[in-house]
Amino acid sequence: DKHIQQIFPGSELARFVEQILKEQFTKEEEIFLHKGKNDLFLQAHGTALLGPDGSNVGVLVVLHDITRLKKLEEMRKDFVANVSHEIRTPITAIKGFIETLQDGALSHPQDAKRFLYIIERHTDRLNAIIDDLLTLSTVEKDQENNKILLDFSPIYESLLNSIETCSIKAKEKDIALVMHCDKNLKAMINGSLLEQAVSNLIINAIQYSSQGSKITLQARSSGDILIEVVDQGAGIAREHLPRLFERFYRSDKARSRTQGGTGLGLAIVKHIIEAHHGRVSVESTIGAGSIFTIHLPAANTIEKKS
Ligand code: ADP
Repeated sequence: DKHIQQIFPGSELARFVEQILKEQFTKEEEIFLHKGKNDLFLQAHGTALLGPDGSNVGVLVVLHDITRLKKLEEMRKDFVANVSHEIRTPITAIKGFIETLQDGALSHPQDAKRFLYIIERHTDRLNAIIDDLLTLSTVEKDQENNKILLDFSPIYESLLNSIETCSIKAKEKDIALVMHCDKNLKAMINGSLLEQAVSNLIINAIQYSSQGSKITLQARSSGDILIEVVDQGAGIAREHLPRLFERFYRSDKARSRTQGGTGLGLAIVKHIIEAHHGRVSVESTIGAGSIFTIHLPAANTIEKKS
């Protein structure tokens, strides 16, 4: 028994109702409603209710909560803005150095060589971004269409392949890669995707560790199957941890870019592990290092779920 103005004073919803009351027509509008902690986006359809004598007796309003859709739309916009920004930086650099070469630097072989090297580096960067974006969208699509096949098989081989893939990068920094994994430890996996996820974690560990340190890849069963990548690197401040797996989120922007990071590596890991019905977590201490853990459900819990 309250008037709309008493419940939502001065709100867009109250204005919407009043307008229909006054002008006696049908109206459709997106309305933002701020109520305590819950900001709501509503799709409102309203129509004036008229009595037999044509007098105004009220308003009928139907509200659809479109908050989730709005948030997804925001995320999509952010994503497009982020991709454009990431791609624009190398393109601007490439164009700049090509112009410098055209303007005369070509006749100074020493400079020309250096500029070509920079152009090559930025081209590699563009390639890495596009490759990661394609991987991300393929994993997402395949996951939606249930196209990611999982086998109950040993994880040892995938982990070993990841170590081999990353060994050259590790050697360049004189980093020791150590692996502990029982050859019979099994989980429901897609071998090549798991290998890619673990490789991404090891490559990060190498990138954010200093020369001569140690990285351990260990797997064990503890209810779930746990695969841990432990480094003795720079560590990550606590405030960054909740957002670390978002696309293009970086805790150390400058370092990531100079190391050739795309900001997509952990988002790919997250998607791959979600396709395994698992999750990824991180613990980290600044200056001491980080532990990234992949949690894969024990096979019997997946069967129960499906
Ligand atoms: P990038 O390509 O920038 O490495 P990722 O998605 O792989 O992107 O990682 C996101 C951010 O998380 C990185 O930019 C970095 O700031 C942080 N990060 C990831 N792994 C580590 C690690 N092992 N040690 C320290 N920081 C890390």
